[in-house]
Amino acid sequence: MKYHAFLIKYSEIAIKGNNRKYFEDALVKQIRFHLRKVEGDFTVKKTQGRIYVECSGAYDQEDVIEELQHVFGILWICPVLRVEDKGFKDLSEQVIRYVDATCPDRNLSFKVECRRSRKDYELNSQEMNAELGHDILQAFPEMRVDVHHPDMLLRVEVREDFINIYSGEIRGPGGMPLGSSGKAMLLLSGGIDSPVAGYMISRRGVFIDAVYFHAPPYTSDRAKQKVVDLAKIISRYTGPIRLHVINFTDIQLAIYEKCPHDELTIIMRRYMMKIAEHIARENECECLVTGESIGQVASQTMQSLLCTNSVCMLPVYRPLIAFDKNDIVEISEKIGTFETSILPYEDCCTIFVAKHPVTKPRLSAIEKSEENLKDVIPELLQEAIESDEVILCQ
Ligand code: ATP
Ligand code: MG
Repeated sequence: MKYHAFLIKYSEIAIKGNNRKYFEDALVKQIRFHLRKVEGDFTVKKTQGRIYVECSGAYDQEDVIEELQHVFGILWICPVLRVEDKGFKDLSEQVIRYVDATCPDRNLSFKVECRRSRKDYELNSQEMNAELGHDILQAFPEMRVDVHHPDMLLRVEVREDFINIYSGEIRGPGGMPLGSSGKAMLLLSGGIDSPVAGYMISRRGVFIDAVYFHAPPYTSDRAKQKVVDLAKIISRYTGPIRLHVINFTDIQLAIYEKCPHDELTIIMRRYMMKIAEHIARENECECLVTGESIGQVASQTMQSLLCTNSVCMLPVYRPLIAFDKNDIVEISEKIGTFETSILPYEDCCTIFVAKHPVTKPRLSAIEKSEENLKDVIPELLQEAIESDEVILCQ
């Protein structure tokens, strides 16, 4: 069946009161942006508290649906058959044709729900429900009416210029439209967690940029390419990501040389956060985002997180903080990052790791160890910041 339009249903925007227009406009803008990638002519319209994508020309419905499933803010996508008003008899025939095409298995219950925005239509909503229900039963005697829990809820809406017929709903990604909530700087490594964290924060309407710390020649170009690839995969949802690649080698070597080895990861993470905060501020990001989750590894215990957190003033958001690894893996599979994340290329953290890292670091002890770096670190931080290579991932 060839549909003419898609009705877009959204959730939280509907409860935004006076700001509703702002969120709706952001959603319309994002839908238009996404559909530029799909072949066909699409008009995105906001009418009477509804958003419709109207389709014309040659287009592939599956492509449209697939693209809309990457637009945050969309809860449901309803493919709509649009017919002209040629009287009720014609409408009834169109409805029968619709049921015939969309329900190959007729052993199901249904309910018809009609609405009119045009009150001069020849039947009122109740009459339409009854008549259409009757006509469907006549055409398909295997079907039965269930007004409480129907398998198929068939909606017929008489609008000003046309009549909508639809029943199916396809799940969208939910969340809030991009651009409705500012911008974040994601610390993106090549692992499983941080791409998922980026996806999740972005799902709340936040644009993201990202920063990746590498340590050439200890980490390879392939490891860097893996991070670029991950950024590209999530950019399908998050929009284009500016990835800042920072050379972290000299800082890492200095820490390795001058600090206790069981504190390496914590100290390294603290300098990463410091640099990330600097880059975030330079790029108008209002927060940092990491893929940390309580207790996952030594550097993510409550005490370790306290030490990492205490170096920056910007808020640090950790969308996965209470997630089990299994649940994170499930999301990464869903958004398509898992296969890339598990490629075996070395991460800069895994090269300089201690056999027995501290799991309950004390902030005062960590700060004392960092004293060993005080002669070299200001210059090394400056050099790291200047090494910033920006890669546009989209
Ligand atoms: P991930 O799967 O995201 O790599 P992980 O379980 O490997 O996480 P860690 O290596 O402890 O965990 O890293 C914790 C967080 O610190 C990551 O989620 C990421 O946000 C950040 N991070 C770690 N290494 C880097 C890096 N090389 N560049 C940028 N951010 C990093
Ligand atoms: Mg990692």
